[in-house]
Amino acid sequence: MLARIKRFLGLGGKPEKQAKPIKPKDDESSQQEVEKVADKPRIGYIHLSGCSGDGMALTENYDILADLLTDMVDIVYGQTLVDVWYEDGNNQNNPQMIDDMPEMDLALVEGSVCLQDEHSMHELKKLREKSKLVCAFGSCAMNGCFTRFSRGGQQAQPKHEAFLPIGDIVQVDCAIPGCPVSPEIVAKTVVALINGDMDYLQPMLDIAGCTYNCGCDLQKNIVNKSLCTGCGTCAMACQTRAIDMREGRPEVNIDRCIKCGICYTHCPRSWFPAEQINKDLGL
Ligand code: SF4
Ligand code: SF4
Repeated sequence: MLARIKRFLGLGGKPEKQAKPIKPKDDESSQQEVEKVADKPRIGYIHLSGCSGDGMALTENYDILADLLTDMVDIVYGQTLVDVWYEDGNNQNNPQMIDDMPEMDLALVEGSVCLQDEHSMHELKKLREKSKLVCAFGSCAMNGCFTRFSRGGQQAQPKHEAFLPIGDIVQVDCAIPGCPVSPEIVAKTVVALINGDMDYLQPMLDIAGCTYNCGCDLQKNIVNKSLCTGCGTCAMACQTRAIDMREGRPEVNIDRCIKCGICYTHCPRSWFPAEQINKDLGL
């Protein structure tokens, strides 16, 4: 796995020994062979200020989940998936401390981080130290999404008012936007990480630094630059129906926009990985 991580980070590395290949069952959209991994990557799933939708999306990979969890990865840290979660202070039920967090090859982080929540800040910074790769998993982690609207003032923690995407606090290596992310992209991303498929991963590396998104990205970066073809993909992708197509161009109802960034990342004029699409379609 270390060699794969080095290749992932562009540091080179020799291929390592692997056991016999297995294939995701019934995955018609991806005929890509995945390999049973001898040296399984250690993965952590860190839940900050998120709604668990991205974790649910991960578990909805029914056809590949069993192979993923038994043959391909070890989940070594996570409150919901494996009940391995460390406290900040002394706790009789869970005396282990965040500083004892295990080393990980990849940490998937769901949710934004609350600046007033000492535990979340500590956990995020510690996982950055402990993980070779940090992935902002879902739009809240990547760009804040609807936690951008937080203003505090609610019980039981009225002072919890400021929520930031994790990339504003620690370096993020890759990001998977979505509210929630789709189950398929979770599975394909983990497989791509294990197989070192840089073509597939490149858009996720490119957007790792994007910590602010909004429907107005379409106007600013696509329409105003004469890149819009009027395809309507952005309107179809928006889960809050915030986009109408008017005279062949998207018009965003900003009052409905939850700032997930999906419209822009799905727009074929923001990224168009033609080679990867042709490969996937066998063209
Ligand atoms: S317009 Fe829709 S898809 Fe785009 S950022 Fe807003 S809520 Fe998300
Ligand atoms: S997805 Fe992009 S190209 Fe298509 S209508 Fe929306 S802004 Fe225009």
